[in-house]
Amino acid sequence: MKDINVLVINCGSSSLKFQLINSQSEDVIAKGLCERIGIEGSQITYTPAGGEKYETVTPMPDHTRAIELVLKELTDPERGVVKSLDEIGAVGHRLVHGGEKFASSTLINDEVIKAIEECNDLAPLHNPANLIGIRACRELMPDTPMAGVFDTAFHQTMPQEAYLYGVPYRFYEEHKVRRYGFHGTSHSFVSRRAAEILGREYEDLKFIVCHLGNGASISAVKNGKCVDTSMGLTPLEGLIMGTRSGDIDPAIIEYLCNKEDKSVHEILNVLNKESGVLGLSGGFSSDFRDLEKAYREGDQAAVRAMKTFIYRVVKYIGAYTAAMNGVDVICFTAGIGENNAFIRTSVCEYLAYLGISIDGEANAKRGEEVVISTPESSVKVLVVPTNEELAIARETVALL
Ligand code: ADP
Repeated sequence: MKDINVLVINCGSSSLKFQLINSQSEDVIAKGLCERIGIEGSQITYTPAGGEKYETVTPMPDHTRAIELVLKELTDPERGVVKSLDEIGAVGHRLVHGGEKFASSTLINDEVIKAIEECNDLAPLHNPANLIGIRACRELMPDTPMAGVFDTAFHQTMPQEAYLYGVPYRFYEEHKVRRYGFHGTSHSFVSRRAAEILGREYEDLKFIVCHLGNGASISAVKNGKCVDTSMGLTPLEGLIMGTRSGDIDPAIIEYLCNKEDKSVHEILNVLNKESGVLGLSGGFSSDFRDLEKAYREGDQAAVRAMKTFIYRVVKYIGAYTAAMNGVDVICFTAGIGENNAFIRTSVCEYLAYLGISIDGEANAKRGEEVVISTPESSVKVLVVPTNEELAIARETVALL
């Protein structure tokens, strides 16, 4: 493996997360976050490995200034981790939507930037922000190679019957309406890692990966390829999430527009930001730590939200088991999947029909790689912490 430092950038419309990762040791050398870019009160948080956290409130009118500050922190004579920008060998950008143009990660050049721009319609909030990050890095580090790693790429192997919706086919041909799926870097990383942990060939197994975070999605990975996933044209489809509704009857939208005297845009905003377990719990919380505590106290709003969330996960696992004609490995990952033993147990209790049994002691661990099924269980169940930044750094190095 090459020995270089890779700067991994995840650029949103007003925030920018970064990590500097050494490709050989795979250690995080430094990490941080710029918040409120272009808004008053912007702040950069920077933590060198093993050091303290530095928070600086300073104006960041745009992303170029934010990246300039990131580079300044990384090369600072006192708290920096590299002597000069020459010690940053590559930049890896997390990119949200690659449409059908990108089935894998790619080195960024003018042509690629143009192709990403052409996907802007599909992710109007995310792609333009990602592109701003790319352009800002190019301006400040023109000679450093950059890679783009797409959230959608891993899912491009889905067969047509999995990615088409039951709508006029010309909507796909003319407007690219289809299932794309997201969190691909995580689904790929976690399923590969699970095969390694089990000491099995990746291509020989059927996986169901449950990425349960604030945003949640589930995927079916068969013989090394993604064959289905729950998010769709946008990340609104599929599982019930922190604040997103997941699957609903599309006719609900017009019905609610009339009943609530709201526009489609307003209702979609509710479906994205005020729904999910937040909405189901009557506005109590989108955070599973709060929900679990209230559930244990018998709070009916929390019981309702958690049970509905769990049930949806279970239905998808059933569907994907059918789609793959079986399942060998089920993985839990992301904030809830890695830390919430109660959710894992509750989901697996439904899965006795698959011959799944869970080892209570193993399942009580949190945030670490662990096989939580018993040796007799006919399906292996694992917790595999996701690491999208490391996955992006690896992909970037592989492209150099
Ligand atoms: P995002 O999609 O924003 O990246 P996360 O993967 O961070 O979301 O997941 C957020 C969810 O994970 C929250 O509901 C939270 O309750 C849960 N979570 C995160 N960390 C922990 C933890 N240490 N213990 C218990 N739950 C956690």
